[in-house]
Amino acid sequence: MIKFYNSLKKKLEKFSPIEEKRVKIYSCGPTVYDYAHIGNFRSYIFSDLLRRFLKYKGYKISHVMNITDVDDKTIHKAQREGKSLQQFTKEYTEAFFHDLRTLNIEEVEFYPRATEHIDDMVRLIKKLERKELTYISEGSVYFNISRFRKYGNLSGVDLGGMKKGSRVDHDEYKKDDIKDFVLWKAKKQGEPFWNTVYGEGRPGWHIECSAMSMKYLGPTLDIHTGGVDLIFPHHENEIAQSEGATGKPFVRYWLHCAHLIVEGEKMSKSKNNFFTLRDLLKKGYTPRAIRYLLLSVHYRKQLNFTEKSAKAATAAVLKIQNFYDTVKELRPDNKKNHGVQNKLRPFLINFDRELENDLNISPALASLFDFIHMTNRFIIEQKITEKDKGFILKTLKRIDNILGILQEKESVPEEVLALVNEREEARKSKDFKKADRIRDEVIKKGFVIEDTKEGARVKKIE
Ligand SMILES: [Zn+2]
Repeated sequence: MIKFYNSLKKKLEKFSPIEEKRVKIYSCGPTVYDYAHIGNFRSYIFSDLLRRFLKYKGYKISHVMNITDVDDKTIHKAQREGKSLQQFTKEYTEAFFHDLRTLNIEEVEFYPRATEHIDDMVRLIKKLERKELTYISEGSVYFNISRFRKYGNLSGVDLGGMKKGSRVDHDEYKKDDIKDFVLWKAKKQGEPFWNTVYGEGRPGWHIECSAMSMKYLGPTLDIHTGGVDLIFPHHENEIAQSEGATGKPFVRYWLHCAHLIVEGEKMSKSKNNFFTLRDLLKKGYTPRAIRYLLLSVHYRKQLNFTEKSAKAATAAVLKIQNFYDTVKELRPDNKKNHGVQNKLRPFLINFDRELENDLNISPALASLFDFIHMTNRFIIEQKITEKDKGFILKTLKRIDNILGILQEKESVPEEVLALVNEREEARKSKDFKKADRIRDEVIKKGFVIEDTKEGARVKKIE
């Protein structure tokens, strides 16, 4: 039985989607005004883990992640850099997709761009207008939150102190600044605009997600994900807009991912502890290690990104990869059945059970390492049969469908293999100078040599 912690109900709930075999997920995606930072990627890796796990459980997935390519931030930064909004956001959108591939985050089914859905947003605002949930002031359209009874249910904000009819035009604002929020902003000098029934202007940020999620997934989604910082006002406003328009429940399970901090402190550019994925790669961390690190802490717990934890993640990934490579290379000549599979199966069951429990990743990973540990013992004791080997590899592959960290060995080009052999010869004849020179040549070709007891191994440099 799968259970998720639903932020709306503030408790663990049994998960069952509307359709028996399909799960509809919406994840708030990036605002493409800069490179995404590792706090953002924590949230995207969380939604990746979620969808991979649900697929593993046999569900088909319809997953939408929006690309916010028009809002306050994109407009202002494009202006500062003297670029058109389109040209400016295109660069960061491409960078975003590049980073997703680097981190082996699965492509979702839909990536709608806000600027390509202006008509859908206007239609949704019209619907809200017909239900008398909006008003117009100085050419902008606002959502009248006093007309939406359930406002505040998700975030628990207190509406008591709110002055009726006070408005906010910014996309982002704080909990102590609850106001009627903007759906459509009248055109301002020098800003991009669209000509619609509401005149020249542009959408507010919040309406983007309501319009695009319902366009692709219908009025009610199974799961909506995002970082905890989006609960107010963004998700609260999404609920108001969507339920206000349709009268139906918008989201059945709200899943929110906690913050990421760096060396115990909040990330900030002024503190010099603000990292994009690119920054970390420059520091020498591998994409798989970063992925593992962002994945390995339960999504509702704060993640403290430290030098130490990054090293531990690197070691963990290496351990799993080496184990996989070792098993693949096994040539078992043992034919006797020692009950290996029966002894290993409980670890897989445990792995599965832990993830069913609100994606409880740490004990799930612990089961994986127990599995590795026990298998290694069987290997040493030569108890593995060819069939066991097949079972172990299949199990690892299944687990990795969720974790996404294993890599198949790249085939090494002939010329590199020739160099490696030449280096072995040089080492044997104690010509270490020559051996080092060849090693450097191999590195230049993008490969690295590891000397093991079984001789030299070549790996592609990530
Ligand atoms: Zn959103």
